Amino acid sequence: MALTDKNQLRQTIRNAGLRATPARIETLELLHGVKYPVTHADVAHHLSGLGFDQATAYRNLNDLVVVGIVRRTELGDHVWRFELVGNEDPPHHPHPHFLCVDCGDVSCLSEIPLPKASLDSIDQIHEVTEILLRGYCRKCKLNGI
Ligand SMILES: [Zn+2]
Ligand SMILES: [Zn+2]
Repeated sequence: MALTDKNQLRQTIRNAGLRATPARIETLELLHGVKYPVTHADVAHHLSGLGFDQATAYRNLNDLVVVGIVRRTELGDHVWRFELVGNEDPPHHPHPHFLCVDCGDVSCLSEIPLPKASLDSIDQIHEVTEILLRGYCRKCKLNGI
């Protein structure tokens, strides 16, 4: 079963209690197809090619966040990024992210589950919402920093 099957995306949106509008379906399809969290600008750019304006892109992203299909994350550079929460297979659990301080690329470290329980037991911490690793990505390193 293809994850980007439009009927399945439509169903995901409806199950969350939203109307499955074309803009929402296209947004989810974009998020399904990437391996990193996308910015609002990425989504707006993708949707503008399909005839939707920026405000529509932003509003629909917010709707998808509110109903819990999409997770919003801020990685210290004051840019919101969006990724699927997903009930698909394999599940996209909360995970640390890696931010390259040179090129700004963000990647999902999906293979490392967020060690939430152990961190939440530390006295000073009420709840951990994000784990961020910063450094130089392999691509930038190979380009001779
Ligand atoms: Zn880089
Ligand atoms: Zn991620």
